[in-house]
Amino acid sequence: MKSLQVLKDVFGYTTFRAGQEKVINLVLKGENVLAVMPTGAGKSLCYQIPALINPGLTLVVSPLISLMKDQIDSLKQNGINAAALNSATPQEEVNPILRQAYEGKIKLLYVTPERLAMNYFRYQLNFLNVSLVAVDEAHCISQWGHDFRPAYRQIMDGVKSIKSNPNILALTATATPSVQKDIADQLQIPSANYVITSFARPNLSFKVVDNPKNTNLYLLDYIKQHPHESGIIYASTRKHVEELTDYLAQNGILTASYHAGLSNKERADVQDAFQFDKVQVIVATNAFGMGIDKRNVRFVIHANSTPNLESYYQEAGRAGRDGEACEGILIYHPKDIRLYRWFIEQSDLDDEYQKIQYQKLAMITKYVNTTECLQQFIVSYFGQSCDPCGKCSNCLGTFIEKDITSESKSIISTIYELDGRFGKTVVADVVSGANNQRMREIDAAHLKHYGSLKLGKTKILDLINYLISHNYLQLTDSQYPLVHVTNLGWDVLDNKKRVTQKISKKRERLIQTSS
Ligand code: ADP
Ligand code: ZN
Repeated sequence: MKSLQVLKDVFGYTTFRAGQEKVINLVLKGENVLAVMPTGAGKSLCYQIPALINPGLTLVVSPLISLMKDQIDSLKQNGINAAALNSATPQEEVNPILRQAYEGKIKLLYVTPERLAMNYFRYQLNFLNVSLVAVDEAHCISQWGHDFRPAYRQIMDGVKSIKSNPNILALTATATPSVQKDIADQLQIPSANYVITSFARPNLSFKVVDNPKNTNLYLLDYIKQHPHESGIIYASTRKHVEELTDYLAQNGILTASYHAGLSNKERADVQDAFQFDKVQVIVATNAFGMGIDKRNVRFVIHANSTPNLESYYQEAGRAGRDGEACEGILIYHPKDIRLYRWFIEQSDLDDEYQKIQYQKLAMITKYVNTTECLQQFIVSYFGQSCDPCGKCSNCLGTFIEKDITSESKSIISTIYELDGRFGKTVVADVVSGANNQRMREIDAAHLKHYGSLKLGKTKILDLINYLISHNYLQLTDSQYPLVHVTNLGWDVLDNKKRVTQKISKKRERLIQTSS
């Protein structure tokens, strides 16, 4: 009752959204809680309302300074006094802020995880009556998440050092079941206190565009066909962002760039221009999005793939916060995946973490190759199920079912013959009977299955990818992944299983023209 009153009186909303009330009630009971709710679902209120009801202070651990600033500004608009302590806080302001918190004049204090890890700050916290610690973007705590932050690992130590014995609310938009468990284990959240709302976004239609000949033209056409709609185009580098912006601007589109290379002022101007529909399309790196609350974004197009499905879903999810129909389009270029693979290999991540990154990359590759409903694919990745959406590019695609058992057998036998010692390219070269240096080195011409498929190399690679995404073959987690045969693959060789492929008519056309 009390929380509903606060919702109305302070925030001016009439009803709770899915999950909010349950989270708030558990938090107010003093439980440790994990809330997994999609972007835009209203996670902030889940700790802001308890913060106003609880007697003491709510400490909010948040990873980004810009995010804190947005939150504090909007709290102040609602007449709530909140403050942040982070590396950007001038030294002379720290003590006054702590003093106000001590006097109860500040109800919410935002800190970075790094701040909470500092001994001196932990000491200072002991003078405050902390009722609740809210951990925003809680997936950062897990190596299995897509955005691991080592300082998050120390949050529990920090919380334990607080004498007033606060409870914890962990919040995230994207957590697979293993990430959920990792968060809960580390922050001591019992599984009865998971509040996980549906991952499905019924108003969002997903589409995969497979390696178009001219991505710029595709984007321009799309925008011209949606002249009165706001959209975001994500590209992976600043350079690509700027080139795309120029191209679209030259073709009459009202557009602006957004990336980390712009000054704060420039970024704020671009955000405003987008918010108030002065530009139709923002072309941005992944720096754009956090804390942006434009409700009528009608399309989010990724001109480059993301390195994992979590980021993809989070970014695409910025479309249609108003609940109206919208589109999330992923333009797939195999070279993007190769580039990410290279990044992972070049990084000095430890082996285990590197392996996780490779697995995440494999998952996004599966996403672009699947013939399942795309919404279902994503939702099941996050551990839930839903009905086919009926409107993604796979649900709408017209497919023909093709028996590809004999082609598959050639490929699988080749891998068997090669002892699983090679990657996709070598396998494709052998199967297609290529005549190059590498083939001579391995004396491929003497192999039984050399040249056993009279298809172009691209088509054979497509087939190999298909067999991987359908679990007949498997890649090892390494920079140059080797192809292995799975048990399902052996069943094909043993004539226990036939392989069929649903091919969209459009996709088949694409494959034919590209080989
Ligand atoms: P999240 O952190 O889950 O991405 P936010 O907390 O930023 O989402 O909330 C998204 C928007 O929804 C904000 O503008 C917020 O004020 C609004 N909102 C939150 N809860 C409600 C509600 N119960 N009714 C109406 N609007 C709400
Ligand atoms: Zn679908």
